[in-house]
Amino acid sequence: MEENICSYCKAGVSQVEVHCENCGFPLIGTEKEKAIWIGRQTMRKSKIDNSAKMVGKTRIILYVLAGFQVLNAILVYVKFSSIIDVVFYLVVAALLATFGYLSPKKPILFVSLALCVMLGYYFLLYLADPILLYSGILWKCAIVMALLYTLYDAIESHNLKKKYKL
Ligand SMILES: [Zn+2]
Repeated sequence: MEENICSYCKAGVSQVEVHCENCGFPLIGTEKEKAIWIGRQTMRKSKIDNSAKMVGKTRIILYVLAGFQVLNAILVYVKFSSIIDVVFYLVVAALLATFGYLSPKKPILFVSLALCVMLGYYFLLYLADPILLYSGILWKCAIVMALLYTLYDAIESHNLKKKYKL
């Protein structure tokens, strides 16, 4: 079998292949088919780039949320001197900051974990006093939606990467 190279990814391909095994490039397609394939591949790449940027923004949201929890910790300490509450808020802050920090490495895992922390936190607020959950409910919904959307986008991006080996 004579060896050729794929003109898109430069991987070695055998002459009998219709599509490059590495990237899926239509090796024996017409010029038009090749151009369409390159266009689509470029779009997939930019979708993956955008998803990474969104994870970057979500990371900042998680840092801001962690900052608010530190503020909560300070407030409960000043108001009630309640060490248990202080520890609780600081733990939530530490988890959010950690998951935010790690999110670019494994977006699906760490955005999911951050979402669990926020939902758990809201659930505890609700148990403590339903009024606490309803105050700023729109913000809370917006945060959950943003995390869910980032997660959905990260899963799509992951699937694209896997399927097209990008
Ligand atoms: Zn290729």
